[in-house]
Amino acid sequence: PFLLSERALSLKPSATVAVTSRALALRRQGVDVISMSVGEPDFDTPEHVKAAAIAAIESGKTKYTAVNGIPELREAISAKFARENGLSYAPDAVTVTSGGKQALFNAFFALLNPGDEVLIPAPYWVSYPEMVALTGAVPVAVPTSPESGFVLDPGELEARVTPRTRMIVLNSPGNPTGAVFPPEVLRAVAAVAQRHNLVIVTDEMYEHLVYDAEQVSIGTFAPEHTLTVNGASKAYAMTGWRIGYAGGPKGVIAAMNALQSQSTSNASSVSQYATLAALSDHAHTAAFVDMARAAYRKRRDRIVAGLNALGLRTPTPEGAFYVMADTTPIHPDELEAARRILDDARVAVVPGTDFAAPRQVRLSYATSMANIEEVLSRIGGLLNS
Ligand code: PLP
Repeated sequence: PFLLSERALSLKPSATVAVTSRALALRRQGVDVISMSVGEPDFDTPEHVKAAAIAAIESGKTKYTAVNGIPELREAISAKFARENGLSYAPDAVTVTSGGKQALFNAFFALLNPGDEVLIPAPYWVSYPEMVALTGAVPVAVPTSPESGFVLDPGELEARVTPRTRMIVLNSPGNPTGAVFPPEVLRAVAAVAQRHNLVIVTDEMYEHLVYDAEQVSIGTFAPEHTLTVNGASKAYAMTGWRIGYAGGPKGVIAAMNALQSQSTSNASSVSQYATLAALSDHAHTAAFVDMARAAYRKRRDRIVAGLNALGLRTPTPEGAFYVMADTTPIHPDELEAARRILDDARVAVVPGTDFAAPRQVRLSYATSMANIEEVLSRIGGLLNS
Protein backbone atom coordinates (compact mmCIF):
# COMPACT_ATOMS: atom_id res chain seq x y z
CA PRO A 1 0.00 0.00 0.00
CA PHE A 2 2.96 2.34 0.47
CA LEU A 3 3.14 3.84 -3.00
CA LEU A 4 5.19 7.01 -2.84
CA SER A 5 3.52 10.23 -3.90
CA GLU A 6 4.34 11.93 -7.18
CA ARG A 7 5.77 14.82 -5.16
CA ALA A 8 8.11 12.58 -3.19
CA LEU A 9 9.14 10.78 -6.37
CA SER A 10 9.78 14.10 -8.12
CA LEU A 11 12.65 14.96 -5.76
CA LYS A 12 15.88 14.64 -7.71
CA PRO A 13 18.21 11.98 -6.32
CA SER A 14 21.34 13.76 -5.19
CA ALA A 15 24.56 13.08 -7.07
CA THR A 16 26.48 14.00 -3.94
CA VAL A 17 24.89 11.24 -1.87
CA ALA A 18 27.12 8.62 -3.47
CA VAL A 19 30.28 10.53 -2.50
CA THR A 20 28.97 11.30 0.99
CA SER A 21 28.06 7.70 1.74
CA ARG A 22 31.41 6.50 0.39
CA ALA A 23 33.15 8.99 2.73
CA LEU A 24 31.15 7.62 5.67
CA ALA A 25 31.95 4.04 4.71
CA LEU A 26 35.68 4.85 4.51
CA ARG A 27 35.53 6.52 7.93
CA ARG A 28 33.85 3.44 9.40
CA GLN A 29 36.74 1.37 8.04
CA GLY A 30 39.08 3.60 10.03
CA VAL A 31 40.37 5.69 7.09
CA ASP A 32 41.19 9.26 8.20
CA VAL A 33 39.05 11.14 5.69
CA ILE A 34 39.20 14.96 6.01
CA SER A 35 35.82 16.49 5.29
CA MET A 36 35.79 19.66 3.21
CA SER A 37 32.13 19.13 2.38
CA VAL A 38 30.28 20.46 5.40
CA GLY A 39 28.28 23.67 5.11
CA GLU A 40 28.56 24.88 8.67
CA PRO A 41 30.91 26.96 10.84
CA ASP A 42 33.46 24.93 12.82
CA PHE A 43 33.24 27.42 15.71
CA ASP A 44 31.15 26.79 18.80
CA THR A 45 28.01 28.88 19.40
CA PRO A 46 29.03 32.05 21.35
CA GLU A 47 28.84 31.79 25.15
CA HIS A 48 26.33 34.64 25.65
CA VAL A 49 23.95 32.89 23.27
CA LYS A 50 24.25 29.57 25.08
CA ALA A 51 23.75 31.32 28.42
CA ALA A 52 20.51 32.92 27.19
CA ALA A 53 19.22 29.50 26.11
CA ILE A 54 20.06 27.96 29.49
CA ALA A 55 18.31 30.84 31.24
CA ALA A 56 15.26 30.34 29.01
CA ILE A 57 15.09 26.65 29.92
CA GLU A 58 15.51 27.34 33.63
CA SER A 59 12.81 30.00 33.67
CA GLY A 60 10.33 27.71 31.91
CA LYS A 61 10.25 29.39 28.52
CA THR A 62 9.72 25.96 27.08
CA LYS A 63 6.17 26.14 25.76
CA TYR A 64 4.50 27.01 22.44
CA THR A 65 5.05 30.57 21.30
CA ALA A 66 3.18 32.58 18.69
CA VAL A 67 3.58 30.86 15.29
CA ASN A 68 5.53 33.85 13.89
CA GLY A 69 7.84 34.05 16.92
CA ILE A 70 8.02 35.84 20.28
CA PRO A 71 7.36 39.59 19.93
CA GLU A 72 10.76 40.52 21.49
CA LEU A 73 12.59 38.54 18.81
CA ARG A 74 10.51 40.02 15.96
CA GLU A 75 11.27 43.49 17.35
CA ALA A 76 14.99 42.65 17.52
CA ILE A 77 14.91 41.34 13.93
CA SER A 78 13.08 44.45 12.74
CA ALA A 79 15.76 46.59 14.46
CA LYS A 80 18.53 44.44 12.95
CA PHE A 81 17.13 44.87 9.42
CA ALA A 82 17.07 48.66 9.96
CA ARG A 83 20.52 48.88 11.63
CA GLU A 84 22.55 46.48 9.50
CA ASN A 85 20.70 46.40 6.18
CA GLY A 86 18.91 49.74 5.84
CA LEU A 87 15.63 47.81 5.44
CA SER A 88 12.37 48.84 7.00
CA TYR A 89 10.29 45.82 8.06
CA ALA A 90 7.92 46.41 10.99
CA PRO A 91 7.82 43.59 13.59
CA ASP A 92 4.53 42.32 12.10
CA ALA A 93 6.24 42.20 8.67
CA VAL A 94 8.75 39.74 10.13
CA THR A 95 8.38 36.00 10.78
CA VAL A 96 10.59 33.51 12.62
CA THR A 97 11.05 30.02 11.14
CA SER A 98 12.79 26.72 11.84
CA GLY A 99 15.98 27.59 9.97
CA GLY A 100 16.50 29.68 6.87
CA LYS A 101 15.29 26.68 4.89
CA GLN A 102 11.78 26.89 6.25
CA ALA A 103 11.59 30.63 5.53
CA LEU A 104 12.44 29.89 1.88
CA PHE A 105 10.06 26.92 1.73
CA ASN A 106 7.18 28.98 3.16
CA ALA A 107 7.95 31.88 0.81
CA PHE A 108 7.91 29.65 -2.29
CA PHE A 109 4.68 27.94 -1.25
CA ALA A 110 3.07 31.29 -0.41
CA LEU A 111 3.98 32.87 -3.77
CA LEU A 112 4.31 30.26 -6.54
CA ASN A 113 1.74 28.52 -8.69
CA PRO A 114 2.32 25.50 -10.95
CA GLY A 115 3.91 26.64 -14.21
CA ASP A 116 5.38 29.86 -12.82
CA GLU A 117 9.03 30.33 -13.76
CA VAL A 118 11.70 31.21 -11.22
CA LEU A 119 15.09 32.58 -12.27
CA ILE A 120 18.00 31.18 -10.24
CA PRO A 121 21.64 32.17 -10.87
CA ALA A 122 23.81 29.06 -11.31
CA PRO A 123 25.85 27.50 -9.74
CA TYR A 124 23.11 27.49 -7.10
CA TRP A 125 22.41 25.99 -3.70
CA VAL A 126 20.60 22.73 -4.56
CA SER A 127 17.59 23.38 -2.36
CA TYR A 128 16.33 26.33 -4.46
CA PRO A 129 15.40 24.38 -7.61
CA GLU A 130 14.16 21.42 -5.57
CA MET A 131 11.87 23.53 -3.38
CA VAL A 132 10.64 25.54 -6.36
CA ALA A 133 9.86 22.34 -8.27
CA LEU A 134 7.93 20.95 -5.27
CA THR A 135 5.46 23.84 -5.64
CA GLY A 136 4.95 22.88 -9.31
CA ALA A 137 6.79 25.98 -10.50
CA VAL A 138 9.72 25.71 -12.92
CA PRO A 139 13.30 26.61 -11.91
CA VAL A 140 15.21 28.36 -14.71
CA ALA A 141 19.00 28.51 -14.28
CA VAL A 142 20.86 31.69 -15.24
CA PRO A 143 24.49 30.67 -15.78
CA THR A 144 27.48 32.56 -14.39
CA SER A 145 31.13 31.71 -15.01
CA PRO A 146 34.37 31.27 -13.06
CA GLU A 147 35.95 33.96 -15.31
CA SER A 148 33.62 36.61 -13.85
CA GLY A 149 33.97 35.19 -10.32
CA PHE A 150 30.42 33.76 -10.65
CA VAL A 151 28.89 37.25 -10.51
CA LEU A 152 25.49 37.41 -12.20
CA ASP A 153 25.16 39.34 -15.48
CA PRO A 154 21.81 41.20 -15.22
CA GLY A 155 21.51 41.06 -19.04
CA GLU A 156 21.65 37.25 -18.92
CA LEU A 157 18.95 37.36 -16.25
CA GLU A 158 16.63 39.65 -18.20
CA ALA A 159 17.12 37.57 -21.38
CA ARG A 160 15.40 34.66 -19.59
CA VAL A 161 12.31 36.59 -18.50
CA THR A 162 9.12 35.25 -20.15
CA PRO A 163 5.43 36.01 -19.55
CA ARG A 164 5.48 33.10 -17.02
CA THR A 165 8.37 34.48 -14.93
CA ARG A 166 7.29 35.31 -11.39
CA MET A 167 10.38 35.37 -9.22
CA ILE A 168 14.15 35.86 -8.98
CA VAL A 169 16.08 34.01 -6.24
CA LEU A 170 19.30 35.70 -5.14
CA ASN A 171 21.96 34.40 -2.76
CA SER A 172 24.83 36.80 -2.21
CA PRO A 173 27.26 35.95 -0.66
CA GLY A 174 26.48 32.65 -2.34
CA ASN A 175 26.68 28.96 -1.69
CA PRO A 176 28.46 27.21 -3.43
CA THR A 177 30.49 29.94 -5.19
CA GLY A 178 31.20 32.45 -2.39
CA ALA A 179 30.42 35.19 -4.94
CA VAL A 180 29.28 38.58 -3.65
CA PHE A 181 27.26 40.58 -6.19
CA PRO A 182 28.42 44.22 -6.28
CA PRO A 183 25.91 47.03 -5.62
CA GLU A 184 25.64 47.99 -9.31
CA VAL A 185 24.64 44.40 -10.21
CA LEU A 186 22.01 44.35 -7.45
CA ARG A 187 20.70 47.71 -8.62
CA ALA A 188 20.36 46.33 -12.16
CA VAL A 189 18.63 43.16 -10.92
CA ALA A 190 16.23 45.32 -8.92
CA ALA A 191 15.47 47.27 -12.11
CA VAL A 192 14.73 43.98 -13.97
CA ALA A 193 12.28 43.05 -11.20
CA GLN A 194 10.61 46.47 -11.44
CA ARG A 195 10.38 46.40 -15.26
CA HIS A 196 8.77 42.94 -15.32
CA ASN A 197 6.89 43.08 -12.02
CA LEU A 198 8.81 40.18 -10.44
CA VAL A 199 9.31 39.15 -6.82
CA ILE A 200 12.89 38.98 -5.51
CA VAL A 201 13.55 36.41 -2.78
CA THR A 202 16.99 37.23 -1.40
CA ASP A 203 18.77 34.73 0.84
CA GLU A 204 21.31 36.70 2.90
CA MET A 205 22.37 33.89 5.27
CA TYR A 206 26.07 34.61 4.64
CA GLU A 207 25.90 38.42 4.87
CA HIS A 208 28.43 38.67 7.73
CA LEU A 209 30.99 36.52 5.94
CA VAL A 210 32.23 39.08 3.42
CA TYR A 211 35.95 39.80 3.15
CA ASP A 212 36.89 42.75 0.93
CA ALA A 213 33.68 43.40 -0.99
CA GLU A 214 30.77 45.63 -0.07
CA GLN A 215 27.66 43.78 1.14
CA VAL A 216 24.39 45.47 0.18
CA SER A 217 20.81 44.21 0.61
CA ILE A 218 18.90 44.31 -2.67
CA GLY A 219 15.78 45.27 -0.70
CA THR A 220 17.23 48.79 -0.40
CA PHE A 221 16.89 49.18 -4.22
CA ALA A 222 13.44 47.61 -4.74
CA PRO A 223 11.73 47.40 -1.34
CA GLU A 224 8.29 46.87 -2.86
CA HIS A 225 9.53 43.77 -4.75
CA THR A 226 11.72 42.11 -2.14
CA LEU A 227 11.35 39.41 0.48
CA THR A 228 14.52 39.15 2.60
CA VAL A 229 15.51 35.83 4.20
CA ASN A 230 18.20 35.49 6.82
CA GLY A 231 18.94 33.43 9.92
CA ALA A 232 21.19 32.60 12.83
CA SER A 233 22.83 29.46 11.41
CA LYS A 234 25.89 30.75 9.56
CA ALA A 235 26.35 34.17 11.19
CA TYR A 236 26.43 33.01 14.80
CA ALA A 237 27.51 29.35 14.38
CA MET A 238 23.99 28.19 15.28
CA THR A 239 23.18 25.61 12.60
CA GLY A 240 21.68 23.15 15.09
CA TRP A 241 19.41 25.67 16.77
CA ARG A 242 17.24 25.97 13.64
CA ILE A 243 16.35 29.66 13.55
CA GLY A 244 15.69 31.55 10.34
CA TYR A 245 13.60 34.62 9.64
CA ALA A 246 12.12 36.68 6.85
CA GLY A 247 10.94 40.24 6.32
CA GLY A 248 8.56 41.21 3.55
CA PRO A 249 5.18 42.61 2.58
CA LYS A 250 2.70 41.95 5.42
CA GLY A 251 0.30 39.96 3.20
CA VAL A 252 3.05 37.55 2.17
CA ILE A 253 4.31 37.18 5.73
CA ALA A 254 0.73 36.42 6.85
CA ALA A 255 0.44 33.69 4.20
CA MET A 256 3.79 32.23 5.30
CA ASN A 257 2.54 32.24 8.89
CA ALA A 258 -0.64 30.44 7.83
CA LEU A 259 1.39 27.74 6.08
CA GLN A 260 3.63 27.37 9.13
CA SER A 261 0.65 27.23 11.50
CA GLN A 262 -0.53 24.08 9.68
CA SER A 263 2.89 22.44 9.54
CA THR A 264 5.51 23.07 12.23
CA SER A 265 4.00 25.92 14.33
CA ASN A 266 6.60 28.03 16.13
CA ALA A 267 10.36 27.60 15.88
CA SER A 268 11.92 26.20 19.08
CA SER A 269 11.16 28.57 21.98
CA VAL A 270 14.59 28.07 23.56
CA SER A 271 16.33 28.77 20.26
CA GLN A 272 14.28 31.94 19.85
CA TYR A 273 15.57 33.27 23.20
CA ALA A 274 19.11 32.32 22.21
CA THR A 275 18.76 34.24 18.94
CA LEU A 276 17.32 37.20 20.82
CA ALA A 277 20.61 37.36 22.76
CA ALA A 278 22.64 37.13 19.53
CA LEU A 279 20.70 40.04 18.03
CA SER A 280 20.55 42.21 21.17
CA ASP A 281 23.98 41.83 22.80
CA HIS A 282 25.78 43.67 20.01
CA ALA A 283 29.19 43.91 21.67
CA HIS A 284 29.60 40.18 22.27
CA THR A 285 28.05 39.20 18.95
CA ALA A 286 30.22 41.61 16.94
CA ALA A 287 33.33 40.30 18.68
CA PHE A 288 32.38 36.74 17.69
CA VAL A 289 31.53 37.64 14.10
CA ASP A 290 34.79 39.61 13.68
CA MET A 291 36.83 36.74 15.11
CA ALA A 292 35.18 34.21 12.77
CA ARG A 293 35.49 36.46 9.71
CA ALA A 294 39.21 37.05 10.34
CA ALA A 295 39.83 33.30 10.69
CA TYR A 296 37.85 32.48 7.50
CA ARG A 297 39.72 35.15 5.55
CA LYS A 298 43.12 33.61 6.41
CA ARG A 299 41.86 30.15 5.50
CA ARG A 300 40.35 31.40 2.23
CA ASP A 301 43.62 33.06 1.22
CA ARG A 302 45.58 29.89 1.99
CA ILE A 303 43.27 27.43 0.23
CA VAL A 304 42.80 29.59 -2.89
CA ALA A 305 46.57 30.12 -3.23
CA GLY A 306 47.27 26.44 -2.55
CA LEU A 307 44.74 25.04 -5.03
CA ASN A 308 45.83 27.43 -7.80
CA ALA A 309 49.47 26.52 -7.13
CA LEU A 310 48.50 22.87 -7.64
CA GLY A 311 47.03 23.78 -11.04
CA LEU A 312 43.36 23.58 -9.99
CA ARG A 313 41.91 26.90 -11.12
CA THR A 314 40.06 28.45 -8.17
CA PRO A 315 38.67 32.01 -8.24
CA THR A 316 39.01 34.03 -5.02
CA PRO A 317 35.51 34.27 -3.54
CA GLU A 318 34.58 37.46 -1.69
CA GLY A 319 32.27 35.79 0.81
CA ALA A 320 30.83 32.73 2.58
CA PHE A 321 33.22 29.82 3.36
CA TYR A 322 33.33 27.91 0.09
CA VAL A 323 35.64 27.76 -2.91
CA MET A 324 34.98 26.17 -6.29
CA ALA A 325 37.98 24.42 -7.78
CA ASP A 326 38.20 23.33 -11.42
CA THR A 327 39.19 19.68 -11.16
CA THR A 328 39.74 19.06 -14.89
CA PRO A 329 43.44 18.14 -14.28
CA ILE A 330 42.24 15.30 -12.01
CA HIS A 331 39.38 14.19 -14.26
CA PRO A 332 37.16 16.12 -16.71
CA ASP A 333 34.05 14.69 -15.05
CA GLU A 334 33.62 16.28 -11.62
CA LEU A 335 31.88 13.24 -10.10
CA GLU A 336 34.83 11.05 -11.04
CA ALA A 337 37.25 13.77 -9.84
CA ALA A 338 35.47 13.93 -6.48
CA ARG A 339 35.60 10.13 -6.24
CA ARG A 340 39.36 10.10 -6.87
CA ILE A 341 39.96 12.92 -4.39
CA LEU A 342 38.11 10.84 -1.83
CA ASP A 343 39.57 7.40 -2.64
CA ASP A 344 43.13 8.44 -3.43
CA ALA A 345 43.61 11.61 -1.34
CA ARG A 346 41.16 10.84 1.50
CA VAL A 347 39.48 14.25 1.22
CA ALA A 348 35.68 14.60 0.97
CA VAL A 349 34.54 17.36 -1.41
CA VAL A 350 31.20 18.00 -3.10
CA PRO A 351 31.03 17.52 -6.87
CA GLY A 352 29.46 20.48 -8.69
CA THR A 353 26.95 18.23 -10.49
CA ASP A 354 23.97 19.13 -8.30
CA PHE A 355 24.92 22.83 -8.25
CA ALA A 356 24.98 23.08 -12.08
CA ALA A 357 28.76 23.53 -11.86
CA PRO A 358 30.37 21.08 -14.30
CA ARG A 359 34.11 20.34 -14.01
CA GLN A 360 34.19 21.82 -10.50
CA VAL A 361 34.03 20.66 -6.92
CA ARG A 362 33.15 22.66 -3.83
CA LEU A 363 35.41 22.76 -0.81
CA SER A 364 34.29 24.31 2.46
CA TYR A 365 37.08 26.00 4.41
CA ALA A 366 35.11 26.09 7.64
CA THR A 367 37.80 23.87 9.12
CA SER A 368 41.19 24.31 10.80
CA MET A 369 44.28 25.68 9.06
CA ALA A 370 46.03 22.39 9.88
CA ASN A 371 43.33 20.49 7.96
CA ILE A 372 43.64 22.90 5.03
CA GLU A 373 47.41 22.33 4.86
CA GLU A 374 46.93 18.58 5.01
CA VAL A 375 44.24 18.68 2.30
CA LEU A 376 46.53 20.67 -0.02
CA SER A 377 49.33 18.22 0.55
CA ARG A 378 47.08 15.20 -0.06
CA ILE A 379 45.60 16.65 -3.28
CA GLY A 380 49.13 17.60 -4.35
CA GLY A 381 50.15 13.97 -3.85
CA LEU A 382 47.20 12.80 -5.97
CA LEU A 383 48.15 15.18 -8.81
CA ASN A 384 51.78 14.02 -8.71
CA SER A 385 50.97 10.34 -8.71
N1 PLP B 1 20.62 29.21 2.39
C1 PLP B 1 21.85 28.85 2.01
C2 PLP B 1 22.46 29.52 0.84
C3 PLP B 1 22.54 27.83 2.68
O1 PLP B 1 23.76 27.48 2.29
C4 PLP B 1 21.91 27.20 3.77
C5 PLP B 1 22.58 26.09 4.51
O2 PLP B 1 23.40 25.37 4.00
C6 PLP B 1 20.64 27.61 4.13
C7 PLP B 1 20.01 28.61 3.44
C8 PLP B 1 19.89 26.92 5.23
O3 PLP B 1 20.08 27.50 6.44
P1 PLP B 1 19.42 26.84 7.73
O4 PLP B 1 20.38 25.82 8.24
O5 PLP B 1 19.25 28.00 8.66
O6 PLP B 1 18.13 26.24 7.34
